[in-house]
Amino acid sequence: MFSLPASLLALAAVSHASPILVRDTNDTNPFVFTNYNGLNFTQMNTTLSNVTIFATGGTIAGSSGSALATTGYTAGAVGILTLIDAVPEILNVSNVAGVQVSNVGSEDVTSTLLLSMSKQINTFVCEDLTMAGAVVTHGTDVLEETAFFLDATVNCGKPVVVVGAMRPSTAISADGPYNLLEAVTVAASPLSRDRGSMVVMNDRIVSSYYVTKTNANTMDTFKAPEMGNLGEMISDTPYFFYPPVKPTGKRAYSIMNITSIPRVDILFAYEDMSNDTLYNAVASGAKGIVIAGAGAGGVSTSFNYAMEDVINNHGIPIVQSTRAMSGEVPISDVSSDTALHIASGYLNPMKSRILLGLLLAHNKNMTEIADAFLGSTDD
Ligand code: ASP
Repeated sequence: MFSLPASLLALAAVSHASPILVRDTNDTNPFVFTNYNGLNFTQMNTTLSNVTIFATGGTIAGSSGSALATTGYTAGAVGILTLIDAVPEILNVSNVAGVQVSNVGSEDVTSTLLLSMSKQINTFVCEDLTMAGAVVTHGTDVLEETAFFLDATVNCGKPVVVVGAMRPSTAISADGPYNLLEAVTVAASPLSRDRGSMVVMNDRIVSSYYVTKTNANTMDTFKAPEMGNLGEMISDTPYFFYPPVKPTGKRAYSIMNITSIPRVDILFAYEDMSNDTLYNAVASGAKGIVIAGAGAGGVSTSFNYAMEDVINNHGIPIVQSTRAMSGEVPISDVSSDTALHIASGYLNPMKSRILLGLLLAHNKNMTEIADAFLGSTDD
């Protein structure tokens, strides 16, 4: 017989009694509602949608002794409840529950953490009919990798909005609070469904499939240089330029039964590059390699021979991407008759590494991996 999930029944009971449960300020317990997954809400207004914020750390949770410091601060110092409390306007938009996944600078985010967070989002958000979407707070440095991973592995139409900040929470004009409010607004909006994972910062909504950090310091850093933005935040409303659309070549992967992601190294190509860099990666245990090649994936003649040796004699897939800020590596620019070369298409080296790791985790063979990357140029 069809039965409603426990959280829906609980919500129905709550809404019958009163549409809004808010915190009693004399009470030390900051939560008013706990759902069937154990997620704690600081408010339950049944006329609003529910969003879960998964906090990982980064500058958005950063703290400094100086209100002028935008460098040299401690990333990942402030907890998720403090972040939510700093933006009470969030509670006009959505009921929120916070999950403290970690509290680290994004440089310390690992594939183990990514797997665990993606599983939690699939379970706590995708499978829960009462949940509208997820927000992930994250350091900005490797944010695009996490956003791409979640885009590929959270398998439902609900939005996953990844957000960070370029100024620590203690700076004058910190961008974190407004970015967080905008991220929750996008995650709560029905307009955001079926758009995959998105990065929301600096009033822009950008596809996680294409977004990259373009500037090491300034707030207007997250862009998809050729593909543009999906939309903008205008005051408190998301404005999408197009109806939902799937990026060309995007594929979905289930990670629910995956326990680890094989090691994939990125090698940056440069003038007079030594072949040793490639053999050192293989000797150190890389199961896949991405080359941030010059221009459309280019490497020297000698390095190309070394790559063919590694592909043919070590069975290690090598994806040729580009060290240029944008543009495509087409298969025609890297293919040969003597080895199975793989071109990254429009995926930059960081996103190529995430995709190659996912494919290896699913035990895909060299031909299947090459096919999956071909999909990034033509679906
Ligand atoms: N180093 C920080 C991080 O990625 C920078 C930031 O969050 O903006 O965690």
